[in-house]
Amino acid sequence: SPSIGVFALQGDVREHLAVLTDLGVDAFGVRRPEELARCDALVLPGGESTTMYKLARTFELFEPLVDRIRTGMPTFGTCAGMIMLADRIEDGTEGQETLGGLDITVRRNAFGRQVDSFEGHIAFDGFEDPVHAVFIRAPWVEDLGEEVEALATVPAGPAAGRIVAVRQGSLMATSFHPEVGSDDRIHRYFVDLVKQS
Ligand code: GLN
Repeated sequence: SPSIGVFALQGDVREHLAVLTDLGVDAFGVRRPEELARCDALVLPGGESTTMYKLARTFELFEPLVDRIRTGMPTFGTCAGMIMLADRIEDGTEGQETLGGLDITVRRNAFGRQVDSFEGHIAFDGFEDPVHAVFIRAPWVEDLGEEVEALATVPAGPAAGRIVAVRQGSLMATSFHPEVGSDDRIHRYFVDLVKQS
């Protein structure tokens, strides 16, 4: 079974580790370059992308992460992790950098204050039943390159039509938190992608 690391300097690491472990994956936290070197694939969790960026720099993980992602390591980012994987960011904090890899522009905290956090059922590409999506100060995908496939969009309300899940080769990202709750289909989707690559 593949070895899948979860970036563990900040964010909801435990939730991702629990889902991956239940799927029979060798899952572990990544805080140091040696741990990253053991990874076949990586999850970038939800949390706070500015803090993740700063900590990745401080712990000398930033450049190794950029390098692994550029050279094809399958990577799945959720929420703040989606921001980390985006090539371009709108409404980032001063000086905030991303790892990049996904040819998308994300808008940070896109849903606005009134709808800080919300949940709903949304259709996900290839799934028979919708997923229960939990959004917490979530980004959305403002713009995407030709190589990027949209996997899910907001079905209704003021944000209707906004793209909230994407895939480009072996990179994928969701604005919402599939690690919360009991639905493991999106993690399964990622694990399958890791096995194929
Ligand atoms: N708003 C956070 C950020 O900008 C993301 C929120 C989340 O990951 N739940 O990084």
